[in-house]
Amino acid sequence: MPFELIAFDLDDTLAPSKSPLPDEIAHRLGELLQTTEVCVISGGQFEQFRKQVVDRLPQLDDEALARLHLMPTCGTQYFRHGEYGWSAVYAEHLTDDEKQRALDAVEEEARRLGYWETETWGPILEDRGSQITFSALGQSAPVDAKAAWDPTGEKKNALRAAVAELLPDLEVRSGGSTSVDITRKGIDKAYGMQRLSDVTGIPLDEMLFVGDRLDPDGNDYPVKAMGVRCHEVSGWEDTAEFLGELIPQLIAR
Ligand SMILES: [Mg+2]
Repeated sequence: MPFELIAFDLDDTLAPSKSPLPDEIAHRLGELLQTTEVCVISGGQFEQFRKQVVDRLPQLDDEALARLHLMPTCGTQYFRHGEYGWSAVYAEHLTDDEKQRALDAVEEEARRLGYWETETWGPILEDRGSQITFSALGQSAPVDAKAAWDPTGEKKNALRAAVAELLPDLEVRSGGSTSVDITRKGIDKAYGMQRLSDVTGIPLDEMLFVGDRLDPDGNDYPVKAMGVRCHEVSGWEDTAEFLGELIPQLIAR
């Protein structure tokens, strides 16, 4: 096994979308961290990582925790565990002007298109520092409500296109099932993986990436396109099975 580091997408790779790691995955990650550097990279912010990943890990010693690299918001932020717990090694934020223009543009276009909902689960707009996120039904909307709001992805795509026209200097992307993310241009998981390589000194060709959306329309695809070795999974159960095969090989090396 030539991999120095294994990086995972979070939603629908390690856990159901926005949900805590299932027991089996938490246990497997704990095992993996005994021998191998592990990264989790996702569009979500650190608080989401805390709820989904950090709080679900089994009891681990400092050495194992030091092998875990967390990259919220596609690696524009980077968190490690040290003497004082989890802290940001770096965080690249949008400027105040970029944030304000992004917030204004997405609200204006959502209202104009009739997508500005009044019954929501939490705030629609969120300032994630390096990313502005629009969530049509709020950040905490249940999965079934989100699926019902835009089953074909038509609304999300229309909003994305309209906002992109107003913000030619920023990147406007479809995020989760009902969300649109605005970041600096060129920020995707490939950007995060490159930053990870820079900051750890581990070459990209010694990394393996595991994700559920490696198809050309998927948010994991940029990692594949940059040439990193990838393993595609259909969901966390598939990842658990993969880790069940991989971990004994890593221990044996
Ligand atoms: Mg995913």
